Amino acid sequence: MADTERVSSEFVDSQVAIFYASQTGNAESISHSLYSTAVQRGFSATWHVLDDHGKAAFNDVRTAVFVVSTTGDGDPPDNSARFWRVLRKATRDKATAYAHLRFAILGLGDSNYSNFCNTAQRLERQLVEAGATAFYGTGLADDGTGLEDVVEPWIEGLWPALARVAQCSSIKLAEAEDISKGGDTVISAKGIAGQGSSISAVDMVVASVSSLSLTHNPSVPQPIHVDFTPLASLKAITGAARLAPAVCAIVQVETGSSAELAAPDDADYPPWHAALAGGMAEDAFLVPFLATVVSCTQLTTTAALKRTVLMELDVSGRDAEHARENWQAGDAFNVYAPNDARAVAAVLARLGVGVADAHRPVLLAARDAGGALPAHLQCFAGTAASVYSMLRWAADLGAAPRKQELRALADYCGEAVDRDRLLFLSSRQGAAAFDALRRLVPSIVDILHAFPSCRPPVERLLDLLPPLVPRAYSLCCAPHGDSARWRFAFNVVEYRVDPATADPAPADPAAIVRSGLCTPWLEALACASPPRRILVARRRSTVFRLPPQPDARPVIMVGPGTGVAPFVGFLEQRAHELRASGAVPPPTWLFFGCRSQASDFLFRTQLEQWRDSGVLGRLTLSFSRDAGSDTKYVQHAMALHEDELAELLLTKDALLFVCGDAKGMGRDVNDALAGILCRYTHARPELTAALLAAPEPAAPSRALSKPEALQLLARWTADHRYLRDLWA
Ligand code: NAP
Repeated sequence: MADTERVSSEFVDSQVAIFYASQTGNAESISHSLYSTAVQRGFSATWHVLDDHGKAAFNDVRTAVFVVSTTGDGDPPDNSARFWRVLRKATRDKATAYAHLRFAILGLGDSNYSNFCNTAQRLERQLVEAGATAFYGTGLADDGTGLEDVVEPWIEGLWPALARVAQCSSIKLAEAEDISKGGDTVISAKGIAGQGSSISAVDMVVASVSSLSLTHNPSVPQPIHVDFTPLASLKAITGAARLAPAVCAIVQVETGSSAELAAPDDADYPPWHAALAGGMAEDAFLVPFLATVVSCTQLTTTAALKRTVLMELDVSGRDAEHARENWQAGDAFNVYAPNDARAVAAVLARLGVGVADAHRPVLLAARDAGGALPAHLQCFAGTAASVYSMLRWAADLGAAPRKQELRALADYCGEAVDRDRLLFLSSRQGAAAFDALRRLVPSIVDILHAFPSCRPPVERLLDLLPPLVPRAYSLCCAPHGDSARWRFAFNVVEYRVDPATADPAPADPAAIVRSGLCTPWLEALACASPPRRILVARRRSTVFRLPPQPDARPVIMVGPGTGVAPFVGFLEQRAHELRASGAVPPPTWLFFGCRSQASDFLFRTQLEQWRDSGVLGRLTLSFSRDAGSDTKYVQHAMALHEDELAELLLTKDALLFVCGDAKGMGRDVNDALAGILCRYTHARPELTAALLAAPEPAAPSRALSKPEALQLLARWTADHRYLRDLWA
């Protein structure tokens, strides 16, 4: 990378804007590290969430780097919704709206789900359509196989490409080159050869479990089996992950006056919750507020594999006025859930932070002048909070570790064996060991236990851990009954996996026990007296809603398990409309599936009543584990009725809604639908011509092929005729 090449280019500009759109915090954290490194490399960089493109004067930005993730069924993250509207409008108004922009995109996704990295691909397409030019190829990183495989090399390649289009200062450049040497090339692994001989099969278990109970206790470290044998034969560890610079510093503040915490540390919501409203002026309805838990009902019997619970929240408070307005059946909302208090205490104890220090109000600041705190910690620059509450509510203690995190932790080990193992895990040589580790999804409690001499300062851990993001749930009610009551259903599960393979191992007493973060907490709160308040927020509305009446189009709904939740809301809405106006609803058909009619047929009484009263035209059931059930899964039941379904879809313009698990059900139902369309057009080939994306010269009299049927489904999705609310 020649300096002259960098400065002589006619395109050279001084500013680089780094944008992120993140749902779970990965894109945010990668973009932040990218930003810090860019600054260290001497680029004049800024860092923004994509929805803040206004503040970044996006229309004037000439060089931009985007790190964007994909969520749900190929959807962009919530914190980019405004940006897409602006981009669409700009493109519509002027075809060359972004002709001044050069960009690079890093996309994050998971190839286990459909529409892999859709956000990045869509962004690239739309920017190009708006006249912008890519200065570096788009990277598509796959969480299914390990994001790092693409992220690390993509970032390495970015710097020379960026240097050709953006200027960086020469002083900083020298520092940056030092950093790159230290962070990425050969790292000495002194003493490894000596240790190697002592690594035995027993050594492969780097942490052992102290006790196992039926109810998962996240403060108890779980065993992590990783094979470190290859480390023994290495002379040096090469290609370790880049070392992300430390960002946060703790600023002590006077107790009393402004440093008082807004709520006690043991509240059921983040003590600083008022500070979360900052920057939401344009979307005031998304501002979080406190709701009261009023009831909790178990919807499954004790024989069910998963316990499903229906919870009701009272959202009648004055601070919820903005959230009560205009919500509809089909909407979803966020719950702010904390890390388990025992896990937080375990981490603090392990880092040597005493109780008084942990609960003292402090502020956070960027260590370096001009540096920025990660977005999820920025509110602590102006709002005092305890380190305990930051760890409890802001940092994800349970997220699977990333290579950068392991690389950084290596620097805080007192023992060479721990340091080398962490370096190895973060390196290219340790890819297999890292994959094995990731599959086990160890928490930070497990990691700190596995590497006993590792003791990072708490502020370093705060900037390394990903943000703890709120959990989303579909409402299973309609506003017509009582708009100040929100009901939602969730599963409370505890599962066991084999510590060596991460495969399910329900009966193995030595298995790793895992549970959800939010649902066990919610369930415990439900039993508490007096009623507890939790922090919730509306989510941006989607198109997953019934069309306003009158609309005669038939409605087909497919929702196995808790995927039925929004349809309970739809049917409540229909029942209300029937009562209010006497209007007979258009044909409505629900495909519901569960494991057993006796144990987990959710909302059975209500669904049967609606069917009997004509609110729900048809209810078709599948029971996957009941001997004698006609059909196992919803898609099998759909296939049994395929002619009627195809007729509704192809000749009656029916709306098709699917809700539930994205990974298995969502994909399989889509596939089954394509098969149904192919078979139906085989019997009625005269329909095919009108269904093709590109008309053929002579109207074909043939069936749709599978790719054509899949294309048709994709077009229906774009036209909001086939609506999917799929959850990972
Ligand atoms: P689930 O685990 O999806 O199971 C429901 C039924 O679907 C079971 O009978 C299951 O059978 C079956 N099933 C398994 N694989 C399938 C496949 N490939 N195709 C069709 N059916 C299949 O139900 P759940 O636990 O309630 O989960 C529903 C999903 O929806 C979750 O991913 C959840 O996150 C999501 N969701 C949640 C909410 C919410 O608000 N919490 C709302 C909507 C959706 P077997 O187990 O016998 O194979």
